[in-house]
Amino acid sequence: MKMKIVAALGGNALGENASEQKMLLKEASKSLADLIGKGYELVLVHGNGPQVGMINKAFNGEMPLAECTAMSQGYIGFQLQNALQNALDENSINRKVSTVITQVLVDENDQAFQNPEKPIGMFFSSIPEDEYQYMEDSNKGYRRVVASPKPLDIIEIDTIQTLINEGNVVVACGGGGIPVIRKNDVLESVDAVIDKDYASASLAHHLNADCLMILTEVNQVAINYGKENEEWLENLSIEKAKEYLELGHFGKGSMGPKVAAAIEFVEGYPHRQAIITSLKNAKNVMETKEKTVIKN
Ligand code: ADP
Ligand code: MG
Repeated sequence: MKMKIVAALGGNALGENASEQKMLLKEASKSLADLIGKGYELVLVHGNGPQVGMINKAFNGEMPLAECTAMSQGYIGFQLQNALQNALDENSINRKVSTVITQVLVDENDQAFQNPEKPIGMFFSSIPEDEYQYMEDSNKGYRRVVASPKPLDIIEIDTIQTLINEGNVVVACGGGGIPVIRKNDVLESVDAVIDKDYASASLAHHLNADCLMILTEVNQVAINYGKENEEWLENLSIEKAKEYLELGHFGKGSMGPKVAAAIEFVEGYPHRQAIITSLKNAKNVMETKEKTVIKN
């Protein structure tokens, strides 16, 4: 049996513009094609924090966030689909890549709507004077924050499964998925951005994957991050992960959701694991020690 991996590529590791992103995805795709060549079953998710903010700004804030996420799924999905297809073809791996525009169900009463804490867009050195809410992010400056409700269900899950069964490498739930609520049996989009870490955990669970692989900017998860006594972790048990999360070791809206998503996916399933590492480590992800493995 092939090991099934849901790999989530961080939006913040995808550069500042379309050409940087194209180059970074070309590099990443070599590693991803390599993993597929080694026999791993890969399903891909990507983030969109910086990109969804950039798209919204390009429309002077007038394009709803749901549509901005849809656009980011199209544009990042295209670049990934293009780069990975090229990498697969180059290695004579006979697989096709396809991107599914994905809607993800959320609860309209999710408390996140009252408490926006998902950073999107660019960093500012001071808080801009406009109608948006801002928060300090990762000691790098201020960023606009938006509501980030938890994913409850993936509307297109059967389509995704069918495509996988047919041998496709699928890109889905991009940017956490387009958030929708169900009102009187009708799906309606809402103004929010779901964290792709939680959406990936949900996708990995629904597909019964063996591994949730979160590829971001840092090689490992740290406790006392950015402090003198910073300590990078190679292994993290569910129990310790919960304890450190509670103690606030992981950035809200950045590393926090990754560790929480890893716990959600792994807890209670002894054969499952989550790996958090950098996008550039994807190449040797199974061999390298420069990663954090989260297991029971
Ligand atoms: P992505 O776009 O991949 O989701 P995020 O910026 O949301 O990336 O999350 C990754 C970032 O989390 C890292 O680049 C780092 O700056 C930050 N971070 C916060 N707390 C920690 C921690 N305890 N250990 C490692 N990184 C952390
Ligand atoms: Mg993130």
